[in-house]
Amino acid sequence: MGNTIFSKIINKEIPADIVYESDTILAFKDIRPQAPVHALIIPKIEIPKVSDIKGKEHAQLLGEMIDAANKIARDTGISEDGFRLVFNCGANGGQDVYHLHMHLLGGRQMKWPPG
Ligand code: 5GP
Repeated sequence: MGNTIFSKIINKEIPADIVYESDTILAFKDIRPQAPVHALIIPKIEIPKVSDIKGKEHAQLLGEMIDAANKIARDTGISEDGFRLVFNCGANGGQDVYHLHMHLLGGRQMKWPPG
């Protein structure tokens, strides 16, 4: 099993504000929110980063992550105005936690380009 802080959240060893859970997916509020709505959607299996994803093997899991994001967006009332989904990958991508996670950000106007 992995040893990131997110593994501990999956195993309920440390608390998190969980907003969605299924057999395969967990989503919880980011501890340092960068927008009025900021959730992290993670698979329960250990995939360190986007570049470890294998399309054929993980396609369903990724679809479930998008479904979860859309559900959370609807539940939090940000779906209609829009939102942003972000995967940070590796050092230059700004990834801090090496357990795959998708950021759902919304509730304010996003800017482009990102920092
Ligand atoms: P990354 O920079 O790896 O894409 O994003 C990691 C995210 O995890 C950051 O936005 C950070 O605030 C969040 N985070 C780190 N540790 C914890 C934690 O213990 N609990 C929660 N809920 N979020 C965390």
